[in-house]
Amino acid sequence: MKETRRVSVWYRAGSLLSGLLACAVCLAATGTNAAAAKAKPAAGTQRLPASHLETRLAAAAAAYERAPVNARVDRVWHAVPGLAGWRLDQPASERATQQAHDGKLHCEWKMVPPEVRLSSLPAEPIYRGPSEERSVALMFNVSWGEAYLPSLLDTLRKEHVQATFFLDGAWVRKHPELAKDIAQSGHVIGSHGTGHPDFRKLGAAELSRQVDGTNQIIEHVVHRRVILLAPPAGSYDQRTVERARQAGMYTILWSDDSVDWMRPSPDRLVERVMANVHPGALVLMHPTDPTARALPQLIHRLRAAGYTFRTVDDVVNERPAIHPPAVLSETS
Ligand SMILES: [Zn+2]
Repeated sequence: MKETRRVSVWYRAGSLLSGLLACAVCLAATGTNAAAAKAKPAAGTQRLPASHLETRLAAAAAAYERAPVNARVDRVWHAVPGLAGWRLDQPASERATQQAHDGKLHCEWKMVPPEVRLSSLPAEPIYRGPSEERSVALMFNVSWGEAYLPSLLDTLRKEHVQATFFLDGAWVRKHPELAKDIAQSGHVIGSHGTGHPDFRKLGAAELSRQVDGTNQIIEHVVHRRVILLAPPAGSYDQRTVERARQAGMYTILWSDDSVDWMRPSPDRLVERVMANVHPGALVLMHPTDPTARALPQLIHRLRAAGYTFRTVDDVVNERPAIHPPAVLSETS
């Protein structure tokens, strides 16, 4: 992903040293000509502490580096996944910038995983992502409603949003082509069990059949490993969570319920989701008529409120939705 940023970003870079300010002035005066900029010290300021390129990289690091966030067990939210941070690889960025020789800053970012990972926490369900990033995950539980799926997929494609679909094994058997369509559109596929069981009421053998058997059905059709389990109606117990973990899976609940199965008007649906949304929210929906009609507006509203989108796969793997810019240009 390549982006460019205006020079004003340098002024927003938190605690700027006077040397960095001098650098920004210098850049503004000389445009993209880095060599000329280097040769021209800004009058009345102290000598730059490092080379011009190093100074620019330091400013990029100050603006975009993020510390990783540790995963944790919360009394209310159970397991809250962490979030990888970003560190600027200064030597690699220096080399890339010198090689490109286009006056732009070419940044090489390294993802820094949290010290405490979700995978190292005890088996607990997940209701939400961490609040440190303004992102949400759109989730669809699919046991019915195939009539509305093409419209939902169409909206997600137009809006460039990747969502997470929890598929019922019985539904996948009936609609393998639709299941494939969902997977091939780049969305994440999870398990919703088979036949909408109440996971709390299952004996050990049936629980295993639900966890492993549903995965086999889904994996046979979409050829992807399933690592997410959304128990129907959010009904689970500790056995469910531990059995899922044994299968290498996370148990997924939600923190923002559209309650779309009650067939509200699209406007009402959007208002309900927006009223409860928060950074890290997992938003629960189903393929229904109001959801299909509300989805474009919902995505626009979330974007207008500053949210980006990531999948539940990203959430449990602690991958940020927001990547720092690969290219910075002070003139574009
Ligand atoms: Zn369901």
